[in-house]
Amino acid sequence: MTEPGHRITELPILVLFPHNRCNCRCVMCDIWRIRQVREITDVDLEPHVASMRALNVKWIVFSGGEPLMHSDLPSLCRLLRREGIRLTLLTAGLTLETHTAAVAEWMDEVIVSLDGPSETHDHIRSVPHAFMRLERGIQALRRLRPELPIRGRCTIQKKNFSLLCETVRTAHELHLNSISFLAADVSSDAFNRPEGWPAERQKGIALNEAEVDALDHEVESLLRDYSEDIESGFVVENADKLRRISRHFRTQLGRADGVSPRCNAPWVSAVVESDGAVLVAGNRESDRVRSVAFRKPGAFAARITKIAGRAAGCVAPDAPGILGRAGHRVANAGPPVA
Ligand code: SF4
Repeated sequence: MTEPGHRITELPILVLFPHNRCNCRCVMCDIWRIRQVREITDVDLEPHVASMRALNVKWIVFSGGEPLMHSDLPSLCRLLRREGIRLTLLTAGLTLETHTAAVAEWMDEVIVSLDGPSETHDHIRSVPHAFMRLERGIQALRRLRPELPIRGRCTIQKKNFSLLCETVRTAHELHLNSISFLAADVSSDAFNRPEGWPAERQKGIALNEAEVDALDHEVESLLRDYSEDIESGFVVENADKLRRISRHFRTQLGRADGVSPRCNAPWVSAVVESDGAVLVAGNRESDRVRSVAFRKPGAFAARITKIAGRAAGCVAPDAPGILGRAGHRVANAGPPVA
């Protein structure tokens, strides 16, 4: 996928934020505080389809913000589907029931955020009946298109670190196809926190030493009591990856060295935000907006190549996985997403 000099010739995965706002009020995120609406329209996107074809984009993941808040998501799907691109929807699911028909028609896969059993999920989402609304949406989708894969994704943090087993049980009750886990990101500038979070705010989400020790026990319980689910892949992470989540929190506390896997994000994926900003492995091209990134045909491919050149060779410290930084709700279902 690369030529000498780190020139990008293929980009299998593109994460698109079609809409910048969100209808949840999650404790670990500030995206829901955004008031000014920004959307990527089919008119914005159309000139860049040729670039996507040139880059051999095979899979687009709609993330955000809440993609279902987009005023006409099917118009984007129609454009991309003509190119034979696989479509995944990442959603908190509050309005999944309302959008069942469109989701069933256009999506190849749905990934829903699941923070734990119902009370915990509602508490973290800070939305009354969030779990019930998610459950109804899943049921409606199952009725309309039973074979559509619907996967769960759980972000581990202070309010749910002791509930991994309960979360797997809940994922079964919701008839999800799989559940995956990742550690909450408290330190990057993603999630609408351009200056990062102050230490006090981080402490409200990250684990302290006693909690990390308790997470160790919970992970071991999961490995013991849900071994069949781990073996079958219903729990997506293997033992190593699950234990690495504790290590991630320990590293944040300065109690362990960070693991620095070589990041291959520049060669497989990029993120396009709702204002046209392009991110590759966390390298943001910020002099953009629609004036550049979304007007000149071919500019998109050139831009990706340029940023990827800068990102090439970067090492993501203790990286949770590709897209983990920008695509917090991207589950590792199938190809290498976090
Ligand atoms: S974490 Fe995701 S679902 Fe929650 S407020 Fe942020 S964008 Fe919305």
